[in-house]
Amino acid sequence: MSAQDAMSSDTATESSTYWFEYAATTEDAITIAMNIYGAVPPGWQRLWRDTVRQLLAVRTPARERSLGNLLPDFDTDSLDVTMPFADRVMLGIARRCTQRSRCTCRQCGRPGRPRWFNAHEAMVLCPRCAAPELLRRAIDDLVRYPGLIAVGGCVDGPERVPEVLRRAFRRRAEYLVANGTLSEPSMKRSTLDAWTRELKCLQRFLPPSCIPVP
Ligand SMILES: [Zn+2]
Repeated sequence: MSAQDAMSSDTATESSTYWFEYAATTEDAITIAMNIYGAVPPGWQRLWRDTVRQLLAVRTPARERSLGNLLPDFDTDSLDVTMPFADRVMLGIARRCTQRSRCTCRQCGRPGRPRWFNAHEAMVLCPRCAAPELLRRAIDDLVRYPGLIAVGGCVDGPERVPEVLRRAFRRRAEYLVANGTLSEPSMKRSTLDAWTRELKCLQRFLPPSCIPVP
């Protein structure tokens, strides 16, 4: 019987074998849990492993039913653990897992924080994993809303462009002033359009998006 079969059959009768009962050691039980729940995001797998280890460490006959039916409930902004009939000790372990996930990058496991890429959901990411996504979206904003950025036909300063592009804007404007193309570090709409086309070409070299498709 596979681990998945063991998990799915467990609620059928009181005499069913729980997933951890197929393991000879705690490490074996953790491995079974990791295989059953392989879809946990990569950055949260270590946290999930630690949480399963802590739950197994407090295993008692009274807690086996809860432990046998635990489920990771992961969204983009937290890793929650659901267990029926969990007592205070088990709920405490589950709560710590949720709290830690909210400051752990779901992609790589480094320290992270919730970042809002749309109005509906946050995603916990570290600066390194968030940067390509922020850059991708900033370039898309330049393509979609040049009229909002070049107000009156001119971008009068870096604060007009998305935050992640401000340093690049400053450098480009300074370069254009130095070579005589611009008289001051601001961009006319035509210059902005040329810069946007260059950025759009660079966009294809960014790593694939880690944002789940809704
Ligand atoms: Zn990361």
